[in-house]
Amino acid sequence: MVQKTLDDLFLAQLKDIYYAEKKIYRTLPKMAKATKVPELKQAFTAHREETQGHVERLEQVFEMIGKRAQTKPCEAINGIIAEGEETIEDFGETAAIDTGLVAAGQAVEHYEMARYGALIAWAKQLGMSKAAALLNETLQEEMKADKLLTEIGATKVDKMATAKMAA
Ligand code: FE
Ligand code: FE
Ligand code: ZN
Repeated sequence: MVQKTLDDLFLAQLKDIYYAEKKIYRTLPKMAKATKVPELKQAFTAHREETQGHVERLEQVFEMIGKRAQTKPCEAINGIIAEGEETIEDFGETAAIDTGLVAAGQAVEHYEMARYGALIAWAKQLGMSKAAALLNETLQEEMKADKLLTEIGATKVDKMATAKMAA
């Protein structure tokens, strides 16, 4: 059996999230376009800019460990994004679209939070405190994005969807 260690796992998951971030960067404009709620549009657009920074931080981490920045297809994010696209197709013209988009966005953020949480723990175990700090900057932004979506959902979107349904 081939011996693999935590640093192999770290590298594998780094490639996974690098793929995911690039895919998210390409997808966020579609999500911004699909909503008419200005706050939600703005949240998706602003998070896309942050996502560019996430990609760059990952490239810095690859550099720190002396590896070429390389993607590895992440079937999880492909599936989460495919579900979001399905929501746009199936609910795009309905009152429920915006709350559907909030949920789709949160599914993405939660995947990222899970991955970064593990990567940070592993970086610390591997003695890479600089990489851990860098990845934690991204994690904080993902958490902030998730929280903002919760707020927008609660204050701007969910009530609207219900009001329209009741009307
Ligand atoms: Fe991200
Ligand atoms: Fe993945
Ligand atoms: Zn994100």
